[in-house]
Amino acid sequence: MSVTHRLTAPAPGWTATADVVVVGSGVAGLTVALNVRKAGLRAMVVTKAMLDEGSTRWAQGGIAAALGEGDTPEQHLDDTLVAGAGLCDEEAVRTLVTEGPDAVRRLIATGALFDRGEDGEILLTREGGHHRRRIAHAGGDATGAEISRALVAAVRDDPGIELIEHALVLDLLTDAGGHAAGLTLHVMGEGQRDGVGAVRARAVVLATGGMGQVFSATTNPAVSTGDGVALALRAGAAVTDLEFVQFHPTVLWLGPDAEGQQPLVSEAVRGEGAHLVDADGVRFMVGQHELAELAPRDIVAKAITRRMQEQGAEHMFLDGRHFGAEMWEHRFPTILASCRAHGIDPVTAPIPVAPAAHYASGGVRTDRLGRTSVPGLYACGEVACTGVHGANRLASNSLLEGLVFAERIAADLAERHRAGELPERTVDVAATRAARPVPLPPSEARAEIQRLMSRGAGVLRSAASMADSAAGLALLAEQAHAHMAEEKPADPRVETWEAANLLLVATALVAAAGQREETRGCHWREDFPERDDAHWRRHLITTLTASGDPVSTPEEQ
Ligand SMILES: Cc1cc2nc3c(=O)[nH]c(=O)nc-3n(C[C@H](O)[C@H](O)[C@H](O)COP(=O)(O)OP(=O)(O)OC[C@H]3O[C@@H](n4cnc5c(N)ncnc54)[C@H](O)[C@@H]3O)c2cc1C
Repeated sequence: MSVTHRLTAPAPGWTATADVVVVGSGVAGLTVALNVRKAGLRAMVVTKAMLDEGSTRWAQGGIAAALGEGDTPEQHLDDTLVAGAGLCDEEAVRTLVTEGPDAVRRLIATGALFDRGEDGEILLTREGGHHRRRIAHAGGDATGAEISRALVAAVRDDPGIELIEHALVLDLLTDAGGHAAGLTLHVMGEGQRDGVGAVRARAVVLATGGMGQVFSATTNPAVSTGDGVALALRAGAAVTDLEFVQFHPTVLWLGPDAEGQQPLVSEAVRGEGAHLVDADGVRFMVGQHELAELAPRDIVAKAITRRMQEQGAEHMFLDGRHFGAEMWEHRFPTILASCRAHGIDPVTAPIPVAPAAHYASGGVRTDRLGRTSVPGLYACGEVACTGVHGANRLASNSLLEGLVFAERIAADLAERHRAGELPERTVDVAATRAARPVPLPPSEARAEIQRLMSRGAGVLRSAASMADSAAGLALLAEQAHAHMAEEKPADPRVETWEAANLLLVATALVAAAGQREETRGCHWREDFPERDDAHWRRHLITTLTASGDPVSTPEEQ
């Protein structure tokens, strides 16, 4: 297997080397880097912006692990399987929940400070879909910021980890046998490593996070453009479960024209007892699910969307006035500040909320060692699909997944290194040249892709709505091809490379979502409202055709 397509880009003007090159500096990437170092391998972390600019630092609620008295991995497993709606890989979930508690303890040993009670025990809260208090948090609602701070400090402290910031990774490089041998990247800056270059490595780990920027309204930061999934597709890797995008039910509603990253109002606010109410003050979740406001996210997002449709409203409300000022200030300082910054005081008024794209349950398909279908290419964190989330991620399982599977990748690399199975690789330059260049859309395509996706492939989907999205996306791709044929292509630069990645990922997502003719987990088809286990209790595997179009094939049952 070799790279079949590549982004249009200048030839690399410089080269660097590492044993393992890790793409991305969130919880997943930094955990891989710290752990491969312990095995004596030289790690390089390349990251698109500053080290802490991914989703990790935005995580609020916390990290789920069976740490509390009476809780067990088995109960955590049960809750995860229920949320996953029949599509979790049970063995992957078992790995997550059994290795999770110790992985959190190791994170604490690395320096992350979690909130503790007066007795010194870690405080645990509840979130949607969890039948136990098992969410550890830090700084009240600033868990991700604390995890990021601790991991960034640890990698900065390790001279054996080379860090390259402002480096947009473009494509994979392989050797003559099709094994990952490094990558191409564009460094924004000045000096010896400026512009497009290449990093040669014995193995490559993708930890590029999510793809929320495919939609207009998202909780994800600007860097979450699905680059890792797009790179993997171009490299011939299998990608799966792309249709399962989790929409967070309670995102601060900033008006009908708001675009890009929007502030999240964590599930933990409902966990502590805030109520969802409609414009008339009615608690509409009561009676819809045994857990009411704490039902799994897809149920809550659907109920909010349904109520919004019924009432012709643009948002619902989250009412936490009964917490009082002191609880808001101590337990949810970040959310309180972000609401107040937008003119809403949750102490005295209910918060306007609506669903927005939040989490990609699917991604680059891996086994339980984080190996993708391309030898030497690994993936972990949100970019990966390890099988733990199935059709819907259980709240706060994602930071944990990033930790656990990053550690497993590092262990596998260490083992292969010890066994002499991780030799230096020689890049197959001819194969790289033979890969077909993908034409770049103009940077303005980003907003158009987001509009098409939110309109046709958001919380509510139907064959007709997705056909509209697919047609709009196909037009953007045709225009990019036409401009290349006329020798008037868009300039290769960060904005156009990101637009190309968004276009590919959006096209693949719509293709999969259109094919899955049922409602399951966070994939909600208005035209197929029932879950259809007979036909669809299986995954859709997406790959690229020779012409560069994504195609989704149902896995054998
Ligand atoms: C607002 C918000 C709240 C959340 N709350 C929680 C929570 O409470 N609990 C929980 O478990 N999960 C939560 N999540 C989800 C969780 O934060 C993410 O799934 C997780 O942090 C992803 O970690 P990661 O390491 O995979 O990716 P990220 O932290 O997103 O990091 C990705 C990295 O890859 C880099 N990158 C991307 N593309 C490229 C490229 N082409 N070249 C180079 N670098 C690249 C980025 O710059 C970034 O450094 C939340 C997410 C958001 C957005």
